[in-house]
Amino acid sequence: MKILVTGGAGYIGSATSAELIAAGHQVVVFDNLYQGHRQAVPAEAAFVQGDLSSRADVARLFAEHPGIDGIMHFASYTLVGESMQQPLLYLRDNLVNAANLLEAAVAAGVRRFILSSTANLFDDPAKMPIDEHERIVPGSPYGESKFFIERTLHWFERIYGLRYACMRYFNASGDAPERGEDHDPETHLIPLILQVALGQREQITIFGDDYPTPDGTCVRDYVHVADLAQAHILAMESLDRLGSRKYNLGNGSGFSVMEVLDAARRVTGHPIPHVVGPRRPGDPATLVASSESIRRELGWRPRYPDIETIMRSAWEWHRAHPHGYGE
Ligand code: UDP
Repeated sequence: MKILVTGGAGYIGSATSAELIAAGHQVVVFDNLYQGHRQAVPAEAAFVQGDLSSRADVARLFAEHPGIDGIMHFASYTLVGESMQQPLLYLRDNLVNAANLLEAAVAAGVRRFILSSTANLFDDPAKMPIDEHERIVPGSPYGESKFFIERTLHWFERIYGLRYACMRYFNASGDAPERGEDHDPETHLIPLILQVALGQREQITIFGDDYPTPDGTCVRDYVHVADLAQAHILAMESLDRLGSRKYNLGNGSGFSVMEVLDAARRVTGHPIPHVVGPRRPGDPATLVASSESIRRELGWRPRYPDIETIMRSAWEWHRAHPHGYGE
């Protein structure tokens, strides 16, 4: 299939573009390169630099690349914390950008759409792990913006027949040898820990150790980015057969911040000093997604289920690229 990947120069989008190419698909990447990196785009992919906020850019994209069979939509503002400070980046821009894309997509006759959604839809889960029947209570303007887009897809299916899948997950992590996680500023736990191991930061602060979890630190669901990529591809390839669906994606029972830190110490051989700081506002104790549906329906199995393998892959990339794509 010929697949358009928005945000294909970003962390998850570029990893998915590479896996799509490896699976024999043709890839067109569309990215504004604000957060993404041109070097992350696989050489085999066509690249169009543009912004989803510009309908002219989007029109040019579809004019230059006719015959797109499906879209994977990663391009987005993605930080929960930022969304609590600048809500309209999310509640306006994420939605408008998706709307511009969808408008052009149906005009171009595209029939398939995969949304990189979020497990931040579930802020008040009745049970853990969180499955697809859980009540949707977005935890932030970020989560709300993805929910808006999920609802837009619902109507686009009814009105235009667009088939879609929504992929909801928590902590993308790990790296491939050729492309990795490089955010500026970096806020995520694993790259921050590895910056300590690289001597770029003195210590890591653990945001609270008095949570009701086995070791008192927050438990999160770290899914390897290559496994996320596979899930998006399986969803795309099965849309015609199974119709529109929503999947929660998780990696098992989750890992605590302390377990992640210990894995990094083992993998890097660095003591990685830590201090315990106050809780980060908005952090629930435990967030773990059930991936039973996607396992059952699509046969998805994480290839990197344990934290040590995830950490090793991240360490290899960060050691080889201590300043990210800047070096
Ligand atoms: N965390 C931490 N110290 C940091 C960054 C993150 O203790 O410097 C914790 C955070 O409270 C959460 C987990 O690590 O429990 C993962 O946070 P991250 O920001 O990587 O992802 P999020 O879960 O917010 O999407």
